Amino acid sequence: MSGDFDAIVIGAGHNGLVAAARLAKEGKRVVVLETSPVVGGLLGGSDPVAAMPFGIHPKIHSGLGLARHGLRYGAPMKTLSLGGEGRVEIDGAVARGVSQAMAANYADLHRKLARYSGALARMLTKAPPRFRDGVVGDMLTMAQLGLSIRGLGKADMRDMLRIILSNVWDLCEDEIGDGPLAAALAMDATLGGGIGPRSPGTVLTLLYRMASTGSGGAGQRSTPVGGAAAVVSALVKAAETSGAAIRTSAPVARILVDDNDRAIGVALENGEEIRAPLILSNATPRRTLLDLLGPQHLNAEDVARLRHMATNGMVARLDLDLAELPAGLTEADLAHRIVVAGDMRQVERAFNAAKYGELPAVPAVEFTGRKTENGWRLAALAQFAPSDLKGGWSKAKKDRLAKSVIKVLDGAIPGFGGKITGAEVRSPTDLEATYGLTGGHWHHGELRIDQMLMMRPFAGAAQYRMPVAGLYLCGAGAHPGGDISGLPGWNAAGQAIKDGGAQ
Ligand SMILES: Cc1cc2nc3c(=O)[nH]c(=O)nc-3n(C[C@H](O)[C@H](O)[C@H](O)COP(=O)(O)OP(=O)(O)OC[C@H]3O[C@@H](n4cnc5c(N)ncnc54)[C@H](O)[C@@H]3O)c2cc1C
Repeated sequence: MSGDFDAIVIGAGHNGLVAAARLAKEGKRVVVLETSPVVGGLLGGSDPVAAMPFGIHPKIHSGLGLARHGLRYGAPMKTLSLGGEGRVEIDGAVARGVSQAMAANYADLHRKLARYSGALARMLTKAPPRFRDGVVGDMLTMAQLGLSIRGLGKADMRDMLRIILSNVWDLCEDEIGDGPLAAALAMDATLGGGIGPRSPGTVLTLLYRMASTGSGGAGQRSTPVGGAAAVVSALVKAAETSGAAIRTSAPVARILVDDNDRAIGVALENGEEIRAPLILSNATPRRTLLDLLGPQHLNAEDVARLRHMATNGMVARLDLDLAELPAGLTEADLAHRIVVAGDMRQVERAFNAAKYGELPAVPAVEFTGRKTENGWRLAALAQFAPSDLKGGWSKAKKDRLAKSVIKVLDGAIPGFGGKITGAEVRSPTDLEATYGLTGGHWHHGELRIDQMLMMRPFAGAAQYRMPVAGLYLCGAGAHPGGDISGLPGWNAAGQAIKDGGAQ
């Protein structure tokens, strides 16, 4: 048994590393315990699941001095939308490959969304407020949000409040019409979630993504020089140079609780016990509370809320090996985000199938890629691929999904299928088995209106503090959710520090 630490972080996903680095920077003696032999969670390893890191939030980048630890961003990342007729290129507010009128409408829409996401941005870098009388900090946070929205001016404020809970389908239909441009926005609003373009709240999820990710602000993403590995390496350096210890192949089996219902340490699967008054968990909410803590430490309502939390993963990952790139796809293209969905209808139809536990006949696809010794390896995301697939996932189902993804790619990039030398599918259930990712869910739990802000991960546990004193949640299951932003880890550590180390 060892007791030399002020804080234990369970899991070395990027959020766990951010939390550890922030705590260590504040002088806490921190140990990070990671199940896997490598660090980084979904961002870790030589072929990371999160192949397109959207960008550690600028506040964390400067707060942890990540530039000093070698993290730099390259040129702004464009989005290439290849489905449908022709090729549309989206570069911030500029859309090429569409009519002049559509490009002008899109520029207006983008600028408007950037303003609205800017008004939300403040909410994402701090603990969400609770709806409770008399808590000054919470009232201030609400007031600041109100002021940010008012600061937009009367017309924008009214418009933002009109559209924020509506759906991205209607917004795009009204402002730019359907097609590959709208499909790219619809993918951004829904990627990773169990929501389709017509689901209410998808304008909010789009604004969230614009506000929380993007090294350049307002959704302007750039590729980190050195890729995912450079992000992980900088976070490890930030944590270690501040004194945090990181132990891999150290799966936590239990969170230890004393007679006063206070978390006091953890037990590893090998029986070793490590004590600290502060525990931050980067594991999913359900895994943290039901598996590691145990329902006996929770009240019946919280157990019910956790069990009802929507956690069905909706994205499968495909690794596609190609001997060479087909004509129509260049090495330069692969530096960008490539969306293959002809229109929003394709995205919505793919969602409709998945909603009922079916594989879509025509999935929507995003991919990126890199050169290998023998050719090219593309990391593709198939949306939607439900974790609760009827009859369960099998090799035959994976083959079917691979076939339909390749057909979509072949339709957009003629000759694509003929270049493929190998394909491997990882279903949401595979991701759950490898990474302890409940339901294989991108955000560790659905990011939709009833599981956002003060409802994330569930009402009563929304400010990173879990129902047991001394225990905090620091992963994507906490506010403001997933993607590679680092915000949940940053905010959770900030909350723990504010609480004085432990509640
Ligand atoms: C298929 C797929 C593709 C994605 N692609 C992208 C992308 O391109 N860009 C992007 O921005 N986002 C992407 N995401 C989303 C992103 O990867 C996640 O939102 C993000 O990884 C969450 O980070 P995290 O640090 O909170 O958790 P994770 O990355 O899930 O890390 C959690 C860590 O905790 C560890 N752990 C769990 N239980 C224990 C335990 N008991 N003991 C010790 N350690 C434990 C795990 O091993 C893991 O290392 C993708 C998600 C999926 C599913």
